[in-house]
Amino acid sequence: MKNRGYFDYNATTPLSESVRRAMFSAMETFENPSAAYADPEGAKRIMSQARLDIADLIGAKPEQIFFTSGATESNNWVLRSILEESPEASCFVTSAIEHDATLAAGKMICDQYGHDMRIVQPDTTGIVSPSSVEGACASQVSLISIMLANNETGAIQPIQQIAAIALSKRAFFHVDAVQAAGKLEVDVEELGCDSLSLSGHKFHGPKGIGVLYLKDPSRLAPMIVGGGQENGLRAGTENIVGIAGMGVAAADAKFNLSIHLKHIKELRAALLLALSRYDVAYSINGPTDLQKTVASTLNLSFHGVRAEALAARLNLCNGISVSLGSACSTNKDRRHSHVLQSMGLCEDRLVSALRISFGKDTNLSDIEILAAAISDGLRVIQSLAAAE
Ligand code: PLP
Repeated sequence: MKNRGYFDYNATTPLSESVRRAMFSAMETFENPSAAYADPEGAKRIMSQARLDIADLIGAKPEQIFFTSGATESNNWVLRSILEESPEASCFVTSAIEHDATLAAGKMICDQYGHDMRIVQPDTTGIVSPSSVEGACASQVSLISIMLANNETGAIQPIQQIAAIALSKRAFFHVDAVQAAGKLEVDVEELGCDSLSLSGHKFHGPKGIGVLYLKDPSRLAPMIVGGGQENGLRAGTENIVGIAGMGVAAADAKFNLSIHLKHIKELRAALLLALSRYDVAYSINGPTDLQKTVASTLNLSFHGVRAEALAARLNLCNGISVSLGSACSTNKDRRHSHVLQSMGLCEDRLVSALRISFGKDTNLSDIEILAAAISDGLRVIQSLAAAE
C-alpha cells in the first residue's frame, strides 16, 4: 500500500526506513537471547538498547519496560492481574471512550470475578472529567484505567488529575498511551500512573510488538508463564526483530517529537482552512479547543451525508484511505462508534463522522488533495441524493 492518500495513521503507521533497516539487521541475529552462550553483542544487546530507547521515550527506567505482543496484551495483562487479586466485589473504573482492549477485557474479567465495572461517560467533547471518575469510585476501588489520547477524536484526557484521585483511593492506575506516543510528550513520572501500554506500529514501528511499563514490576503477576523471560513476568522467546524495530521507532519518535508536533499542527490547520475555502460545512467531533487534542487526528461530521458513502467514494475515485472509527470495530457489528455515541452526538453527527489521521509522511499537497476530494465527493453525493 502506498503512503500517498493514506489518512488512517491512527489505525497503523508505515514502517520508517530506519526501523526497516534495524529489523533486517536483527534478522541476521538468530541466537536465542536466553541461551547461556548468547553473544552479549547480539540479541541481548538489541533488546537492552530497545528497552533503553523505549524507556527514554516515556521517562521510565529500562527495568520497568516489559515486551508484549502489543497494547491489547498489555491492557489485558494489567486488568487481569490486578482484578484477579482484588477482593471480591471490588470495583474497576474506566471510561466509555476506551479501546475495546480495555472495555472488552474489563467486562470479561469483572464478570468472571464478580467485580463491579463502572464506565464513566465523557462530556460532549470526548473528555472524561476527573470529578466523574471520582464519583464513580466505590469505597473499594482496585483499578482505574483511562487512556491518554483517544483513538477516534484525539481528545487528551486529564491524566494527572485522575492519577491524584487513584492515589487518594489507593487504586492501581493504568494508562493506555497507544495514541499518544510520538505525538505528545509522555512522561510516566509526570502522569503519575502505575502502568502504561504502547504498541510499536502506532509510531512507525512493526506490528505485533508492544510494551507494558510497570512502575513497580513486583505488583503484577505474569499473564503468560513458561521460560521465565522478561524477569519472569512475560514468558516466551523474545520477538527480537519486532523489539529491534520498536526500539528504533521509539528513539526516532523521541528525537523528532518537536519537529513532528509542528508538522502535524500545520497539516491540521491547513486541512481546516482548505475545507473552509471549499465552503465545506463540518462539525468537529472532539474538543473544539484544539490544544486539548492530538493534532494528527480530526474527527469531522459532514452533515446530511453518510460517512460510509463518502469514505467509499474517496477510496474508489481518489485512492484516499480514511476511517469511520477504530479499525478494530470494523470487525464488530456496531452501528455507530461507541466513542462518539458516549459523547451524546445526535444521529446525524454519528452517521456522517469521518476519522482523518495523518503523520510524518503526509505533506501539504496531500492535504490539499484530500480537501478537494472531500469537497467534490460531498457535492456528488448531495446532488445524487437531491435527484432521488
Ligand atoms: N489502545 C488504543 C487506544 C488503540 O488505538 C489500539 C489500537 O488501535 C489498541 C489499544 C490496541 O493496539 P494493538 O492492536 O496494537 O494491540
